[in-house]
Amino acid sequence: MSEKSFTASSKPRSREIAILPFETYDLSEFRDSLEAAAVMYGLEPNFASDAYLTSDFSNAETQRKQRDAVRVILSVKNILRATGEKSRYALVVTKLDLFSSKSNFVFGLANRDLGVGILSTARLTEWSEEVTPSQMKERVLKEAAHEIGHLGGLAHCEYGTCLMAYSETVEMVDQKLPILCDNCKRKLRSDGR
Ligand SMILES: [Zn+2]
Ligand SMILES: [Zn+2]
Repeated sequence: MSEKSFTASSKPRSREIAILPFETYDLSEFRDSLEAAAVMYGLEPNFASDAYLTSDFSNAETQRKQRDAVRVILSVKNILRATGEKSRYALVVTKLDLFSSKSNFVFGLANRDLGVGILSTARLTEWSEEVTPSQMKERVLKEAAHEIGHLGGLAHCEYGTCLMAYSETVEMVDQKLPILCDNCKRKLRSDGR
């Protein structure tokens, strides 16, 4: 086989983002939100993967009853590599609460080099009397779009209403608009991603 034909057949699908659950989680409730987040970046969401994503527990994870976002991303990448996933990016959604070395909890995390982002709905969907299902869906859309923005090379944004603003609380998520500010839009375009 010539190198050329090999490259062509194994080429990653460059506009595709695989969207899949971590461990068992029915995403149908949030499918529209996740789809909209991908489409915002001109990406094609692909929900078709049947790879089962999982990862063993570290001592810290067992003690904290949370998953370590960095560890999960690495495990996911290994599984996707082993199953030959061809999408350029992957967004993994979990109902488990996440932490990172820098924060007690995070809504999500993304590793641009690996092309894998993770989003936790644990705190976005926490029930309270004032929160409606459509509000939960909007939160999922915003934080999914935030992680996909990182995959596309965007950093955190100082504008509190921009999708790329860093949110420490759900209230801060609710304050964001479901769009990128002009600055972030420009950055995304100039990066050519
Ligand atoms: Zn972020
Ligand atoms: Zn911005």
